Amino acid sequence: MNAKDGNSRPGREPTRNLQKMEYDVIIIGGGPGGLSTALHLQQIAPQLSTRSLLLEKEHYPRFKLCAGGLTIDAEIILERLKLDVNEVPHVFADDIRFDFESKGLNIRIPKRHALRVIRRAEFDNWLAEKAKTRGLEIREGVTVRNIIQDKDGVMVETDGGTFRAQVVVGADGSNGVTRRCIFPRASVHTARVLEIITPLKGGLTAVEASHNNNQAYFDFSPIPDNIAGYVWDFPTQVNGEAMRCWGIYDTNILANEKRPQLKEPLAEEMQRLGFNLDDYEVKGHPIRWFSPENQMSVPRVLLVGDTVGADPIFGEGISIALGFGVSAARELKESFQRGEFSFRRYKRRVMWSALGQTLIARWIIAYIVYPLKWRWFQILLWRWLKPLVVCVAWVFVLNWSRRLGRAGAKNLQFF
Ligand SMILES: Cc1cc2nc3c(=O)[nH]c(=O)nc-3n(C[C@H](O)[C@H](O)[C@H](O)COP(=O)(O)OP(=O)(O)OC[C@H]3O[C@@H](n4cnc5c(N)ncnc54)[C@H](O)[C@@H]3O)c2cc1C
Repeated sequence: MNAKDGNSRPGREPTRNLQKMEYDVIIIGGGPGGLSTALHLQQIAPQLSTRSLLLEKEHYPRFKLCAGGLTIDAEIILERLKLDVNEVPHVFADDIRFDFESKGLNIRIPKRHALRVIRRAEFDNWLAEKAKTRGLEIREGVTVRNIIQDKDGVMVETDGGTFRAQVVVGADGSNGVTRRCIFPRASVHTARVLEIITPLKGGLTAVEASHNNNQAYFDFSPIPDNIAGYVWDFPTQVNGEAMRCWGIYDTNILANEKRPQLKEPLAEEMQRLGFNLDDYEVKGHPIRWFSPENQMSVPRVLLVGDTVGADPIFGEGISIALGFGVSAARELKESFQRGEFSFRRYKRRVMWSALGQTLIARWIIAYIVYPLKWRWFQILLWRWLKPLVVCVAWVFVLNWSRRLGRAGAKNLQFF
């Protein structure tokens, strides 16, 4: 799509399979980003939401590789949508450990769990059901192949026909087609991520392994070996059975240096706790992460969630995608009120919101914590600077959605 000048490609015939399917808004992708946009539209612009369509290539409940850690911010956004996330099967991690070589600091949130862990098939299916019950039209099993913008709207070509809308929201994740169509040459910051699900117990007892099944662990030991990330180990459940979810995240910030194979530090950590990585299926998926230069819109098309970028430090993207839904819904509502769809102000709206502030802060922190890769610095940071780390986490990483909410209340009155 030639998005910048708003013309479709010359000589192209996009209408071959055109059906009369015209909408105000088409949302491409039914993960937390797309569904949050739809749910917020239902809340602040019900008229608009009845003329919206969400296209999802899979059928719910569909698999999505993800550790499923929901932070307090995800829960706050869901509560404000009047959704009770307790309806989704989950386990709690009472506290979170940030370790370096198995020693570090503990973060606990007073009077509540530190992390709620869900499985994405169940969580996304629940969100989709809520949006459907509130009136959203969702077409499942429809893969978007291309989008073509013209001065009056956007043509969405899919394997199930061509749809047309006034505007499109790209919510199709890190590998999505929307961003590739509108920004074919944009640079991409992508993290490598591997994940494994195991039973609760390995070859060692919990005591031998000095390992607490109610804690979520992040161990930053791989950093001195140029893996700019961490190994994680969360409690989880699969079909009601208590399990653990392990993984390794590498931002690729140190990609120019010599690195071991990504699964090596994960295998070492698992072995230390009595698990053999080779006994389990390893799955991988990239995460596109946020950088301030990432573009977020062109006329008639705006992006949410991983299509813009997840948190660079941890790859935490569920609360971020839910937060994008708030900004996108407001932008859509105002654009339809004005009858003007340049989305020129969308990036500024996001960047000045609590969501943008946490993303910028996390981007800066990632560029401090990961390139300063010396072992002594990592030991100092995770073992000795606890008050500083807790303070930074509390102010810049967690609790941002409360500020998003205050702005939201004002905007709701305004609308
Ligand atoms: C291994 C791993 C572990 C993670 N762990 C966590 C975690 O613990 N906590 C956390 O907060 N984040 C985690 N993340 C990040 C999180 O999964 C993402 O940031 C989040 O899913 C982003 O939501 P989204 O809605 O933007 O995109 P997605 O959840 O990727 O949703 C995109 C949707 O679009 C659909 N789609 C894609 N292409 C098309 C198309 N062409 N046509 C129609 N539909 C399409 C997809 O099927 C999908 O349903 C993890 C990621 C990985 C890879």
